[in-house]
Amino acid sequence: MQQLFKTTLNAIKLAMLALLALPASAGTLGGTVSIAFDDGGWTQYQYGLGIAANYGLPGTIFVPTALISASTAAPGESWVVDWDKIRAFHEAGWEIGAHGRSHLRLTELTPDEIEGEIEGPISDIEREIGVKPVSFSSPFGAFTDETIARIMESYDYHLSWKGHGGRNPADAIDPRYIGRFEVTNNMSAARVCGEMVRAAQNNFWLVLLFHGIVDGNPVEYQITARKYEEIIACASLLDQKGVIQVKTIREAMEAIEAQ
Ligand SMILES: [Zn+2]
Repeated sequence: MQQLFKTTLNAIKLAMLALLALPASAGTLGGTVSIAFDDGGWTQYQYGLGIAANYGLPGTIFVPTALISASTAAPGESWVVDWDKIRAFHEAGWEIGAHGRSHLRLTELTPDEIEGEIEGPISDIEREIGVKPVSFSSPFGAFTDETIARIMESYDYHLSWKGHGGRNPADAIDPRYIGRFEVTNNMSAARVCGEMVRAAQNNFWLVLLFHGIVDGNPVEYQITARKYEEIIACASLLDQKGVIQVKTIREAMEAIEAQ
């Protein structure tokens, strides 16, 4: 409890410092921030969902649907969670996006295999969640003009790996190449919090990509649960203050397209 209090306090301090950095004439602030997870790994469920839910924030999770179907639902035995856990994300307001079926590089597959990896997740997610997915994230960030063209026949939005460094200009978004800002453990929570304020200043849509979230020592592509919570607490506070709006990929794009 004391730890949680300290973490929240830290995040508030970070957000306040970031806000103080705004020019007095900041005028209308209009940043959008999205939280994105690829894979449906265990720690994304154990820490990622619970902590975001504590702060009332939704996100978008991209799942390789055949691996989720095959999961034995035991941490350590399966790389990814099962559909019950993905349903928990859905019930908490998260968007369920597609990440292929078997987490393969689309660029190395035959046309038939590509078809299955792109089209298959639609029926899988509809069957298990009851909602047709509209967002697709290419496994390994591997795509070509041809795979993108095929993806866009079946989905509305494609998430690339690091396009625009994840700082998508709200007035010039290409739904085929929505970029993501990959949060790694060598970044401070203050830096990520500052990125959110910059998104508000510059009318960017900042899409944060998280991989593993761990209680112990993080390796590459992981961050500590504590740092994740500081980032989420900062996003929540900035959202409450009207500086940014935290939305799923689908909600953010629908709002941008309505402008
Ligand atoms: Zn992946």
